[in-house]
Amino acid sequence: MDNALSITDLKKVYQNGTTALRGVSLEVGRGDFFALLGPNGAGKTTLINIVTGLVNKTSGKVNIQGVSIDDNAPKAKLHVGVVPQEFNFGIFEDVIDVVVNQAGYYGIPRREALPRAETYLRKLGLGDKLHVQARTLSGGMKRRLMIARGLVHEPKLLILDEPTAGVDIELRRGMWEFLNDLNAKGTTIILTTHYLEEAEQLCKNVAIINKGEIVASGEIRSLLSSMDEETFVFDLDQDPDQNQISKLSTYQAQRSAPHALEMTLTKAHPLNSAILNINALGLQVKSMRNKTNRLEEFFIHHTSK
Ligand code: ADP
Repeated sequence: MDNALSITDLKKVYQNGTTALRGVSLEVGRGDFFALLGPNGAGKTTLINIVTGLVNKTSGKVNIQGVSIDDNAPKAKLHVGVVPQEFNFGIFEDVIDVVVNQAGYYGIPRREALPRAETYLRKLGLGDKLHVQARTLSGGMKRRLMIARGLVHEPKLLILDEPTAGVDIELRRGMWEFLNDLNAKGTTIILTTHYLEEAEQLCKNVAIINKGEIVASGEIRSLLSSMDEETFVFDLDQDPDQNQISKLSTYQAQRSAPHALEMTLTKAHPLNSAILNINALGLQVKSMRNKTNRLEEFFIHHTSK
């Protein structure tokens, strides 16, 4: 079966000569929950804008649900809903109208669009805001309004650019639940996010893009298990002295705080041997944790070269 999104050797050089994409290929299967990660300027927005038809590609192929954007852009577009980073709705329009008017662009009659818009807005917690002007909504509410608008034509593929930026933690969880539910019902979702914890929680597959190139991609779980280095923080029963620390040099041990050691673990020097080595110095481990979110560590490793 055709993928929800298939991109082959996509290149983009802007008119001012900036090369934003240097030959990107990626496949997003139907029903996937996919994270597109990358530092600022990596090319994520350019890629999304090409898929949604806002930016013209320089070369390469893009297929959405098996439809090439070169052969039939209008049909390809019908399959995609997008939630851009910038709020770009009419701020003086009522909330319900923002969504219903969007349906108009897709030729959906108003009598069909109205109940659909209401359903999505209610699910997104905006049920009591249907008839207020969009400008009066908080940032988090505006973001959810954009999601409802992106869904009104019931696309098979939903692309969200930083959907939870500026959304507080509680609302973020609510949004995660909504997206999980939508995905479970069959909508393919692609999101870009700065919150790597979010990608790890929500997404199955990931591509990391850096300077216009994919530098890592695959199933998040297997990428993380292939990581050859992890930094752990060990909280100890006493403060380690310099002599003890120097005996843990294979782990690049460093005192990161009073009573705490930061150590690098590898396949050759795994967790259990690290603990034994700490104990052999007369120190006890009271607790331990990954220094950073593991996907974050993976991300930094692949984008800081
Ligand atoms: P991201 O979304 O990952 O932050 P972008 O796709 O916005 O990355 O940008 C990728 C590169 O393309 C950057 O170097 C950026 O400055 C450049 N770029 C983005 N939009 C334009 C544009 N309209 N004209 C010229 N250069 C652009």
